[in-house]
Amino acid sequence: PIQKMDYIWFNGELVEWDKATVHVLSHAIHYGTSFFEGIRCYETPQGPAIFRLTPHMQRLIDSAKIYRTTIPYTLDQLVAAVKETVRANRLRSGYIRPVVFRGYGEIGVNPLNNPVEVAIATIEWGKYLGAEAMEQGVDVCISSWNRFAPNTMPALAKAGGNYMNSQLIKMEAIANGYAEGIALDADGHISEGSGENLFLVRNGVVYTPPLTSSILSGITRDTVMTLLREMGVEVREQVLPREMLYLADELFFTGTAAEITPIRSVDRIPVGTGRRGPITAAVQEVFFGIVQGERPDRYGWLEYA
Ligand code: PMP
Repeated sequence: PIQKMDYIWFNGELVEWDKATVHVLSHAIHYGTSFFEGIRCYETPQGPAIFRLTPHMQRLIDSAKIYRTTIPYTLDQLVAAVKETVRANRLRSGYIRPVVFRGYGEIGVNPLNNPVEVAIATIEWGKYLGAEAMEQGVDVCISSWNRFAPNTMPALAKAGGNYMNSQLIKMEAIANGYAEGIALDADGHISEGSGENLFLVRNGVVYTPPLTSSILSGITRDTVMTLLREMGVEVREQVLPREMLYLADELFFTGTAAEITPIRSVDRIPVGTGRRGPITAAVQEVFFGIVQGERPDRYGWLEYA
């Protein structure tokens, strides 16, 4: 269960945690009409640092826009609201969950006559796939579920309804004894995990599927591509066939929750030597150095509360 904190920011003001409730006939409950973000806050010597807060809130605005929805707050107001919530809850490190949803109004499928509601919660949280996983890596499978095809659900929107697909991938993986599932896109090419982007290393080159492979445009993905290029590693965004997963020297997931998590096997086939590879370890070291405030933040990724 979620550990309660003091406040949730709800439609413009901080309310007590238990008072942030919605009506059962809210549109989002019936049709998945919501947009959300997941953001990490890290403890640093200069205080709590929210990782790439502004790009996360811009992605929230973009997700809503795809569904003809204007959030009734500006980017600056949303950024300020997250910082206010972090301060009010005295969060030092953890997870921030902003959510925009269509509330109570009409029962029909058309959402546009239902109010746009906004909430921001903070949650204390550790490693998503486990602390040991960061070094040892996780065992994954290729899911029998594909990601949604283009022109069905827009993958670039981080929308609540999309996560019904993620839930099928995740539940199947766990039921079969894996930590996570990798979904292929509608053409059978590599897409992503249920809540993570995927990177693959072969012969010293790093590959990751492009936005056209039904992925979310991950902020950690962007971060890792930037860091790898800075380290002099070639990164190619390209369509990847499934069997590249079995031939990779290294594989890792990226995401706000997963951070950078190595993958040690796919469908019980070991990845490379079956241990965390050198490129994975090197990019992890740089990433954690920056978010913990130990390495210079040259891109302004840490936004202090
Ligand atoms: N893909 C999906 C489906 C996700 O839910 C997430 C987590 N937001 C990601 C990728 C990784 O995105 P980010 O690095 O922005 O957290």
